[in-house]
Amino acid sequence: MSYRVVWFKRDLRLHDHAALHYAAERGPVLCLYVFEPELWQQPDMALQHFQFIRESLRDLYRGARSHGITLQVVHGDVVEILQQLHRQAPFVELVSHEETGNGWTFERDKQVARWCRSAGVVWQEFAQFGVVRRLRNRDAWQRHWQQHMHAARLPLPAVQSLTLPWTPAPLPEGTTFGLNVQDPAHRQRGGRSLGLQVLQDFLQQRSRQYRGGISSPLLAPTACSRLSPYLSYGCLSMREVLQETEIFRASLPETATRHRQGLTGFVSRLHWHCHFIQKLESEPAIEWHNMHRGYDGLRETEWQQQHFDALVNGRTGWPLVDACVAMLNDTGWINFRMRAMLVSVASYPLWLHWRPVGEWLARQFLDYEPGIHWSQMQMQAGTTGINTTRVYNPIKQAQDHDPQGHFVRQWLPYMRKVPDVWLFEPWRMPESLQTSCGLQDKAMPIAPVELETATRLAKQRVHALRRQPEVKAGKQAIVDKHGSRAHRTGTNKGSKSINTTAQQGSFDF
Ligand SMILES: Cc1cc2nc3c(=O)[nH]c(=O)nc-3n(C[C@H](O)[C@H](O)[C@H](O)COP(=O)(O)OP(=O)(O)OC[C@H]3O[C@@H](n4cnc5c(N)ncnc54)[C@H](O)[C@@H]3O)c2cc1C
Repeated sequence: MSYRVVWFKRDLRLHDHAALHYAAERGPVLCLYVFEPELWQQPDMALQHFQFIRESLRDLYRGARSHGITLQVVHGDVVEILQQLHRQAPFVELVSHEETGNGWTFERDKQVARWCRSAGVVWQEFAQFGVVRRLRNRDAWQRHWQQHMHAARLPLPAVQSLTLPWTPAPLPEGTTFGLNVQDPAHRQRGGRSLGLQVLQDFLQQRSRQYRGGISSPLLAPTACSRLSPYLSYGCLSMREVLQETEIFRASLPETATRHRQGLTGFVSRLHWHCHFIQKLESEPAIEWHNMHRGYDGLRETEWQQQHFDALVNGRTGWPLVDACVAMLNDTGWINFRMRAMLVSVASYPLWLHWRPVGEWLARQFLDYEPGIHWSQMQMQAGTTGINTTRVYNPIKQAQDHDPQGHFVRQWLPYMRKVPDVWLFEPWRMPESLQTSCGLQDKAMPIAPVELETATRLAKQRVHALRRQPEVKAGKQAIVDKHGSRAHRTGTNKGSKSINTTAQQGSFDF
């Protein structure tokens, strides 16, 4: 019998699923998800990602069953599984969404493509975001994005569902793949059903606080959409999130100014999502190498393990930094501003190369999306060569975003008894006062470097490199390849979507 295999990857939904839609229209379909042991050995993967996928698959399985579709979940090497399946029950096409994953999934996709060619199987892939494969020129990118996002959503098709010719083993546990490291107790749970609830709750209620609320680590957990893991694993389609937002926004009265502005700001982030993923799609090497190769050698040979240990153990001594690490350990999420601050502290005063820091953060972020992650890591570390160097001072960030110390006291028990006057620089507190605050020996971590001096030196080094003629000369090629054209062309003008051109330009792509 002629049939197609729909390979689910980071697209754990049935709705607006181009691959499923295409295959179902052409005949019987076998819906397959493969847990790949080797993927879970990669340094950017963590138990929380695994558990979120598992929860999402459970939800997907139940949803599929109610529509007469059987989702088959197996584990093993994907090429071997396809080979075995093809031997026992030959199929004509493999159908999936395009994936802009990490280096490992990129190589695996090449192997799958090779196998498909050798077996005479056609592999059909569909874009799931506004990210363009084999993009020749960034000039037309915005138009592609608009077209993709405003195309009609694909309904759940009637599926003639097939099952594997063998009985799949039960869903594996994380421990099967050696994933033992802590799963944050209060992380978000997976599944489309929950994703839809989060979306509606955000649109109707929480987006009122989006504008003005997203930078504070205290307000952001509710002011931000919290849709990132549902977008990263495809429980929701990006298109449905954008379109639902536009419909909801249009239904708001003119007087709901703040609410409307919040949603406009949110839509601009949905552009950023694809804009950043496009960088890794167009240049996979930025997962490993500086986007501007003129920055090679800047930090690579000066690795300081004790600086890294202080950071990952939340013992830098800078309360806001350590509180963010504690929150990440407990929830798997922190807002954009605090992510940027963590990378800035790692890259400037602690002078750590972005790659090991990025691997650690990838494991800490439940919403790990390689394209956004590695592009942002480089941007915050100052190695893109095209963005303004942003150095976040953790003391100033605390004064601006946590002036009463609610956040640091929530996450760092030893800060609870520290008097307000010592909140931002508790290490300056006299020892006698530390003792009277009940701080035991070594309860208060000591910063591994003096913040101001180390930051000044780091900035000097980066700026000196930036001024070199060969580094300056390398900049234009990067702007051409990766830079946003929004501020140059104003391409959003007259489009159906909320106009985000100004916001994008001002955020220094
Ligand atoms: C160093 C660093 C690493 C990051 N790594 C990731 C990552 O692995 N996965 C990830 O989804 N986001 C990442 N971000 C971007 C951003 O911090 C998160 O998208 C956001 O905090 C997720 O919360 P939210 O969904 O409530 O955000 P909202 O503010 O509600 O934004 C909605 C959506 O827009 C997209 N988005 C928001 N901000 C950005 C941004 N600055 N760049 C690109 N897309 C954005 C995300 O898909 C997000 O879910 C990173 C940022 C930094 C500084």
